[in-house]
Amino acid sequence: MSLAFDGLPPLRDVVARHGLDALKALGQNFLFDLNLTQKIARSAGSLDNHVTIEIGPGPGGLTRALLASGARKVIAIERDTRCLPALAEIGDHYPGKLEVIEGDALKVDLAELAAGEKVRIVANLPYNVGTQLLINWLTRDVEKPFWASMTLMFQKEVGQRIVARPGSNHYGRLGVLAGWIADTEILFDIPPQAFNPPPKVTSSVVHLTPKATRLPCALADLERITQAAFGQRRKMLRQSLKPVGGEALLEAAGIDPTRRAETLSLEEFCLLARPQNQRRG
Ligand code: SAM
Repeated sequence: MSLAFDGLPPLRDVVARHGLDALKALGQNFLFDLNLTQKIARSAGSLDNHVTIEIGPGPGGLTRALLASGARKVIAIERDTRCLPALAEIGDHYPGKLEVIEGDALKVDLAELAAGEKVRIVANLPYNVGTQLLINWLTRDVEKPFWASMTLMFQKEVGQRIVARPGSNHYGRLGVLAGWIADTEILFDIPPQAFNPPPKVTSSVVHLTPKATRLPCALADLERITQAAFGQRRKMLRQSLKPVGGEALLEAAGIDPTRRAETLSLEEFCLLARPQNQRRG
């Protein structure tokens, strides 16, 4: 059998040998193309002075690329126990560099796992829990993010929501939250045919880094405002924001009450989120 660039077997062989038929319930769409996983690993930035955390390594295509590109330490969290023997082979090939945690990433506190070290999160996320994972990490400690960067693959539509700006149809609660905490960018798209099995939609790799300075407002207040505003996104703000202060709130912030949520900038949302302006529900 011919070996891949890293001296390990090709991923197709690994998947066949370990019987890793993709499970839809676990959002399993595997990348077999090691050139592509290397491209994702490279776009994460230098990995030699960070701990890299990967969610859902599966048979290990991205894990291998991360280790081959010089990652000092990779901690990988995988829910599917069938993948563990394949991951153990990678660990043997890179002694002391790969730690695999068996479990549900939704229940793991990555900040605790990082134990004060600088972290890069890199993952081809399971689509069914990807957005929730991102929100958990973004909101873990907005004053002092535990992550130095996140390089994550999502369905393209989710990627567009993360990086959305005012005026775009994709602009909503996720874009405001992500844009308040991080600088966000879509790096490149990956077509369905690159995956096994191919998903129905195109995917995007999104890169996030914490903002050097954040606009002043509190997370809970910002969430209360965006929930009300985008909960009725077609309505004028004087109507949608009624439960949190309505016209008086808009007037205090100097915002035209006939505008709609999708036209407001991040700065304007933060103005509305000033606690002294809001009526608490
Ligand atoms: N990284 C591999 C790749 O790029 O080929 C697999 C990516 S696949 C889209 C998502 C992976 O996440 C699967 O291996 C799946 O078993 C795993 N997974 C699904 N839900 C999970 C969860 N809640 N916690 C940890 N891993 C999960």
